[in-house]
Amino acid sequence: MLGGIGNRTLLNLSKSDHFRIMPHNLDKNKKIYTTVGSLKKAQTQRKEVFAMRYKVELLTGIRPTGDLTVANYLGAVAPIVELQSQGVSPMVFVADFHAITDNEPATARQYTHGVVADYIALGVNPQKADVYLQSDIAGEVTTFTALLARHVSVAELLRVPTLKDKLKNNARPETANALLLLYPVLMAADILLNRAKKVPVGEDQLAHMEVTRLLARRFNKRYGELFPIPKVLQVKSLRILSLKGEGKMSKTNPGGAIFLTDDAKTVAKKIKAAETAFEGVMNDKLESHILVAKGLAKTESERDEVEAIIQAHKSGKPVMGQFKQLLTHIVQNFLEEFQAKRAEITRDPSYIPSVLEEGVKVARKNAIETLDEVRKVLRFT
Ligand code: AMP
Repeated sequence: MLGGIGNRTLLNLSKSDHFRIMPHNLDKNKKIYTTVGSLKKAQTQRKEVFAMRYKVELLTGIRPTGDLTVANYLGAVAPIVELQSQGVSPMVFVADFHAITDNEPATARQYTHGVVADYIALGVNPQKADVYLQSDIAGEVTTFTALLARHVSVAELLRVPTLKDKLKNNARPETANALLLLYPVLMAADILLNRAKKVPVGEDQLAHMEVTRLLARRFNKRYGELFPIPKVLQVKSLRILSLKGEGKMSKTNPGGAIFLTDDAKTVAKKIKAAETAFEGVMNDKLESHILVAKGLAKTESERDEVEAIIQAHKSGKPVMGQFKQLLTHIVQNFLEEFQAKRAEITRDPSYIPSVLEEGVKVARKNAIETLDEVRKVLRFT
């Protein structure tokens, strides 16, 4: 579903904030048009129409920060693979600059090729998708980040809810690094350099997308219609919970997570210890296990089996043992197939580098074209 929320909602911007930053631009443009005559105006408009075109249909980023969990697959990868199967060619980038906001650069490097292998083994097809590494176009990304950062205030960035949460929970303003503050601007640079049309985001990234849209609008208003506004492709609000019931499933809480690298025995052990619900009762944990079971099931008949067990549970029958067995079987099958594909993909050590080399050609071309236009309108060539 396409959507998004008004940019003032998340950042608490007032109308006056908006206008203070972008004074009298439209009037200035009008004045120029009337003095250079109608031919020039038509040419300019044609150029603007060209500039406003989207270059990339769908853009998504992955942070190379560790092994992926089944929640990462269901929440972030499966929607891309689904859209790809509907004929969309996604662009996928490994966001290593984003990763180093809270990880060592060496850690980001360690996981870079691995996450690409994961995405391909999970169904992203390099014949259809352009996959690249953000820092392979470091010059364009960081230059544009600097140029964009001028258009958002420190106060606005401090109001971004994800940063506020982080500062409340696991970092303090005195010690948090400044790159964390720039996280949404860096994301805006990736999206706008590629002139991406749709960006699939979970709830956690919505506020960041609003910064991107805000920056695009501010830039357009001040310097002419350069950026088509990216749309938020809100993926089904999916929140897989930790198997242990505390918070969401996350690689930072490994005990309650099923990793794509887990072997069959580990999966069985983790699911055996998972919390479910008393007969006849539904709760968030069980709903989340059902999402995992249905999301990873290979066949319709497996999904029907899950449904039948849940109906029996709702009518008060003691079937949670049976449910856990089925869930274990489904997860093990999914992981077995995934791990076999991944092993095949990584057998040739030159394969992933060659995928990235191909992908960055497209990203670099987009980035250079966009940045050239930006530099021209800024008269910063
Ligand atoms: P992270 O590994 O936490 O940076 O998550 C990367 C992406 O994976 C998120 O933006 C979500 O789209 C997805 N994701 C991670 N954890 C979950 C979860 N527990 N439930 C649903 N989706 C998730």
